[in-house]
Amino acid sequence: MTTRTKLRRAPAALAILLAGITACASCQGSVNGTPSALDVASPSSGDGAGAADSTSAAGSASAAASSAGPSASPSAAKSTAANGLAGKVVVLDPGHDGGNALHPAEIAQLVPQGFGAQKACDTTGTNGADGYSEHQFTFQTALLVKSLLQQRGITVIMTRNNDTGVGPCVDVRAAIGNNAHANAAVSIHADGGPVTGHGFQLLEASKSVGGAANDANSQRLANALHTTFGQESGLTPSNYVGTDGYEPRDDIAGLNLSTVPKILVEAGNMRNASDLALEESATGRARIAKAIADGIISYLTSR
Ligand SMILES: [Zn+2]
Repeated sequence: MTTRTKLRRAPAALAILLAGITACASCQGSVNGTPSALDVASPSSGDGAGAADSTSAAGSASAAASSAGPSASPSAAKSTAANGLAGKVVVLDPGHDGGNALHPAEIAQLVPQGFGAQKACDTTGTNGADGYSEHQFTFQTALLVKSLLQQRGITVIMTRNNDTGVGPCVDVRAAIGNNAHANAAVSIHADGGPVTGHGFQLLEASKSVGGAANDANSQRLANALHTTFGQESGLTPSNYVGTDGYEPRDDIAGLNLSTVPKILVEAGNMRNASDLALEESATGRARIAKAIADGIISYLTSR
């Protein structure tokens, strides 16, 4: 079973203990508050090898603006202008981080979850039976999504630009989207469910600090990704949690604290052999990334 349900009902202290060993879905903490030293440090730490360009977790709109132009070809720019994508800002949030496991105290610190609750900063995430890690999968996939979006002239901000750092905490991950006034934000995860369970889940905040209008837009974003995931990813809606691939949650800080349209996708179950094979292959990740990118683009162009 997943620790998701336990965590939702567990006292905070127990939740902390569980957070480090749990599957991805329980790793989301909260969003809101003041960036901690850890939060600030982590985006810029590491070797930066994964950072294909200047996009930064600093998350400012100006930083975002500076990162968009160079990657867009003239033809792409022309088509995106026609599609209304020019000037759009998307935040991609690859779950967890490669250095989290070595910094248990830092990721266990409590941060705001939203609506008065607290949650652990982050977790290590889950992994496949062969050791392929969720943090690696989410980072590899996010880079692919980033490239696809930039090809359409969309400005992309990543919440982390390498897979060797710590955090940032989940509240900061939300703040990055909020500060950028992102048109859409997507957290990318993979689940650690039962071995017989498979499929994707789209997690939505039961309510966000952004209010009802923001929640409605997040729902539209989830609907768009539901369509593209069904068509392109190779994954089917989850057969073990949620309803037809949707799962409202009240304990996901990164969603609760968002003031911009935001969802979290669990792109398959890493404990399931067939889902893991898809996640672990370059072709599989390309399919998943295209589903994410096309879902975001569908949302942005349908407004
Ligand atoms: Zn996760």
